[in-house]
Amino acid sequence: MNLNGLDKSAGNLVKEYQRVYLYILDTLKYQINNGLSENQARSLLREIQLELKRLDEEAYKWSYDVLPQYYYSALSNVDASIAMLSSVNVIGGSPIVMHKQAIEVATNSLYTDLAKNTQYMSEQAKQIIRENGRELINRQVISGESQKRTKKDLKDALVKNGVTSFVDAGKKQWSIDNYSSMAIRTKSRLIHNQGTMNRLSEYRERYPENSNFDLIQISKHSSKCWCGYYEGTVWSISGKHPFYPSVERLPNYPYQSFHPNCKHVYLPYIEDLRGKGEIVNSQYLNRTIKDLNKEHYHKNK
Ligand SMILES: [Zn+2]
Repeated sequence: MNLNGLDKSAGNLVKEYQRVYLYILDTLKYQINNGLSENQARSLLREIQLELKRLDEEAYKWSYDVLPQYYYSALSNVDASIAMLSSVNVIGGSPIVMHKQAIEVATNSLYTDLAKNTQYMSEQAKQIIRENGRELINRQVISGESQKRTKKDLKDALVKNGVTSFVDAGKKQWSIDNYSSMAIRTKSRLIHNQGTMNRLSEYRERYPENSNFDLIQISKHSSKCWCGYYEGTVWSISGKHPFYPSVERLPNYPYQSFHPNCKHVYLPYIEDLRGKGEIVNSQYLNRTIKDLNKEHYHKNK
């Protein structure tokens, strides 16, 4: 599968997260509106957990079956570019230890993130159902007006800080569906780019005298984000190239993606086949995400 096909499959998994997330919200709202018995609430919770288990299985399958294909597509993309160089033999398939390890780390990391997410949804749902149960007991002694308010308060709380919010390792707050989408999309780029870098390093090891394997180019899709300033530009992995700047001067490096949800990928740039490539405007060297975000915001407001 090529990058577009893989992204479509990622999009389907993201949609599945959104669907389950909405299903849980609706189910909980239904429970709040109808004041179910303890037994009914218990079976509702079981349904929610079953749905989350299915989602978890799908996330597992995607992480271990589809995500690695981003890596393999990067390997074959490097091989295909290099195939046109007459002096070099293409490395081809051969899943060596380096690749196996890279894939294992990436798939474990994505699946762990997604599983944490479903686990969190499940715990939140349980807590909301339990608290709502308590509210139902109290309701018998409160007036109709405050009943209505309590329901509204519960629903507001549900949307504001119930199953909807999730705090990541960097303490940033995400809504559950945005978080899973971000994790899936960002990790697909990281594993792809690592595939490009690792394959090029294999060629460098095999052909240390050949200087064609030191450059990468940033892909293009006419991004409206600041990362668009980097589209099509060429960078040196060793940092020793006479024209092209070191990859270390890219924003967010050594993290191999500009920002969460970024679509850009690293492509091989074979100098002998492509000639002189584009060099980034020097004002975009050594920038941080924070100051690029700020500059971009002011330019576009
Ligand atoms: Zn981007």
